[in-house]
Amino acid sequence: MSGSQGFETLAIHAGAQPDPTTGARATPIYQTTSFVFNDVDHAAALFGLQKFGNIYTRIMNPTQAVLEERVAALEGGTAALAVASGHAAQLLVFHALMQPGDEFVASRRLYGGSINQFGHSFKSFDWHVKWADPADPQSFEVAIGERTKAIFIESIANPGGAVVDIEAIAAVAQRHGLPLIVDNTMATPYLCRPAEHGADIVVHSLTKFMGGHGNSMGGVIVDCGTFDWSASTRYPMLSRPREEYAGLVLHETFGNIALAIACRVLGLRDLGPAISPFNAFMLLTGIETLPLRMQRHCDNALAVAQHLRTHEKVAWVSYAGLPDDPNHANMLRYSPKGAGAVFTFGLKGGYEAGVAFVEGLKLFSHLANIGDTRSLVIHPASTTHRQLASDQQIAAGAGPDVVRLSVGIENVDDIIADLDQALART
Ligand SMILES: *Cc1c(COP(=O)(O)O)cnc(C)c1O
Repeated sequence: MSGSQGFETLAIHAGAQPDPTTGARATPIYQTTSFVFNDVDHAAALFGLQKFGNIYTRIMNPTQAVLEERVAALEGGTAALAVASGHAAQLLVFHALMQPGDEFVASRRLYGGSINQFGHSFKSFDWHVKWADPADPQSFEVAIGERTKAIFIESIANPGGAVVDIEAIAAVAQRHGLPLIVDNTMATPYLCRPAEHGADIVVHSLTKFMGGHGNSMGGVIVDCGTFDWSASTRYPMLSRPREEYAGLVLHETFGNIALAIACRVLGLRDLGPAISPFNAFMLLTGIETLPLRMQRHCDNALAVAQHLRTHEKVAWVSYAGLPDDPNHANMLRYSPKGAGAVFTFGLKGGYEAGVAFVEGLKLFSHLANIGDTRSLVIHPASTTHRQLASDQQIAAGAGPDVVRLSVGIENVDDIIADLDQALART
């Protein structure tokens, strides 16, 4: 499939072709752990990375390969690697870039799980995060030190829905010779393609809008092919000979797909978070309708935000799609088709109203996820952020009055009617 095709066409066809042995039109689920070698020389060439091919499903699988090609095409990258979850994708990217004692700079407004992964678990590898404010690109520059290896941001930040000025932060990364990693989970490439704004690596939780149906975990790393890993000695995994591959230098051999290769043949091979072929199939099926779903998500979310802001029980609504929202200018620049489906609003009745509201909803599901066809809700102060003191809750954007919605693709009148009947109980 050619890169000149439209997004909707690529979402359905990129990477796929009728199965060569059976003619099956949908991509089959290659539910096998291993693949037969033609002969001993073939096996040796595969193991030595002289030839691309399937060996063992922990490292590569044909269903997974279609998913990888499809996401790479949608993001405008050179190659991709699909893995078991969004968190696994983040782990493998940093594994390729970081040595013990190294640092990276990350936006402090991230998915809560990423804040835990970076701030706590990564310490066990002696990898250290410095936090910066995504609304202040200068704060990234100030946090950069001798051992900084990368900058990490979300394009549209979870949970608040703020749209980040990607180009301003990319300029900081470029000045310091660092790769910019963008988590594009909340936007998806339908709304925003970070590679067009200076990102070098894009990661996703495919679990959310990409798969879109709340039924399968997955993650992906997209290599944008833009970063020169040999320009400094900072990235030895990419620019130094690898003993286990007979002295092969990944960047020299694989050029603009070297990062994706490193994540596969070092990170995935040795750390092991492979995606199951079944999940790859489910996610591929979801991606076929990504453009339709994402547009409906955005249209419904805007209608809901407009409705809530005039409601007498609602104190404030924070949605970048509203023309007077502080994030609206960035939205028009980076995500002009819509501001996504996830946003927060405040209830005048505070904590008690938040609890009554989530318990009163019938169509919305009360759970800790986003990006399902179904409308989802959470009241962070009584759930995900319950253990924090109230000043900490407020600092995290999870004050007692805050409700987060992930607006689904049901009929928008039904969504609004459900919100209204639950608001009447607060
Ligand atoms: C959910 C999420 C992740 C983590 O992905 P998993 O698939 O749950 O591991 C990372 N980033 C963002 C923005 C997310 O919403």
